[in-house]
Amino acid sequence: MRDDSTICALSTPVGVGGLAVIRVSGPDAIEIAGRVFRGRSLQKAPTYQARHGVIVDPKSGEMIDEVVALVMRGPRNFTGEDTVEIDCHGGMYICRRILEALIQSGCRMATPGEFSKRAFLNGRMDLTEAEAVMDMINAETAYSLKAATHQLKGGLSEAIENVRLMLLDCIVKMEVNIDYPEYDVPEITDDEVFETCEAALDKVEELLSTADSGRMLRDGIGAALVGSPNVGKSSLLNLLLGSDRAIVTEIPGTTRDVIEEKLDLGGIPIRIMDTAGIRETSDTVEKIGVERSYRSMEESDVIFWVVDATRDISEEEQAFRKASLSKGGKPYLVLLNKTDEGRLSRETLAETLQIDPSRIVEMSAKEKTGIPELTEKIKEMFFAGEVLSFSQPLITNLRQKEALAGAREALQRVLDAEGMPQDLLVIDIREAAEAIGRVTGKSTQEEVITEIFSRFCLGK
Ligand code: GDP
Repeated sequence: MRDDSTICALSTPVGVGGLAVIRVSGPDAIEIAGRVFRGRSLQKAPTYQARHGVIVDPKSGEMIDEVVALVMRGPRNFTGEDTVEIDCHGGMYICRRILEALIQSGCRMATPGEFSKRAFLNGRMDLTEAEAVMDMINAETAYSLKAATHQLKGGLSEAIENVRLMLLDCIVKMEVNIDYPEYDVPEITDDEVFETCEAALDKVEELLSTADSGRMLRDGIGAALVGSPNVGKSSLLNLLLGSDRAIVTEIPGTTRDVIEEKLDLGGIPIRIMDTAGIRETSDTVEKIGVERSYRSMEESDVIFWVVDATRDISEEEQAFRKASLSKGGKPYLVLLNKTDEGRLSRETLAETLQIDPSRIVEMSAKEKTGIPELTEKIKEMFFAGEVLSFSQPLITNLRQKEALAGAREALQRVLDAEGMPQDLLVIDIREAAEAIGRVTGKSTQEEVITEIFSRFCLGK
């Protein structure tokens, strides 16, 4: 149901910065803003014109703040409705009073995401774009923001829409075959139907394969911090987080649980999972911890393996390296810790472990060194696509993933049903197109009808 109330909200982060923007959107936006604004008339302002003035309390007439009001008339703006943006002087108190003044004059507070929802309802953006706006608002770091921006530009919408149009074209032709066999149009052959479905399935699978990297980017890259007891995992974690979240002790095997923290390395969001020391053990409690380590490695996107520069590589460590850090396995970095006291050099270690020296980062949790190098390495891996690549459109949320998975199933059913008549095949193709349409919020049903009539002028 369409809601034609006028809504307002603070559009900039709470309590940061010298200026804040309050957005008013809806059919009465200009009139309501005009009720609390004193200056040259907003009602008469042409679209995209800013007016300087003051906001007053509608009851007492008292001045609240000196502001600039920008009038943007619908439909050619973000929400597609009449909008006024009020630039005021940051600070919670002033913002709250302005919002109160607007509400007293006929607005209501916007619910989260409501501006984007209106933009969608008014055809100013499709669903993936609206979600990208939400992701952008929620993006925690620069790289998440970049992926959100890419999606906003319609990279994903375009890729998905192409598949949908391909199927739509196929459906339209099939429907004509089925409903108007006597009508003289080029029919689509069964082979052509299968070719189209195969091509669509390929594309859908390609998009689905990005779903995991999309998830990775928004939630952060999962990094498992593993290593033998006492090598300094907890200390490194504290260094990375700049806090005392993990307790550091000198008794081996004290970090028994997995703790997870988010951090930002050079703009890349990382979820770091600190685990118990990896060690062959008989102690039951510690064993659970060790199992957790392996599980956290399975769930991680990259492994940070910590080794101690003050002692030689143990047999256990050699065994771990062979079992878990193999070619074609998970991407990893070896964090050579305690280099402040250590004698084990990068070169010796690379040779002992038979790995590429560029995988080793020299660090010292005690002296707080090595973070810039670690950051650089993560960035390199990220850009090389080893950890994640977002050169292609990313499926970043579950709704999109489910819709595409539905399409994949339906297309697979078509391909499995070779030899069946087209009036049965078309049911699954329709379902696939509908599922794909759910990603961008487009309904296939209506379009098929419109297309059939406009293309073939049937029903004359
Ligand atoms: P974990 O068992 O791997 O989590 O290791 P901890 O972080 O508990 O550290 C074990 C011991 O090594 C502690 O006594 C730390 O103070 C010490 N340690 C950790 N990092 C360094 C370092 O960079 N240099 C030196 N010299 N000692 C360190």
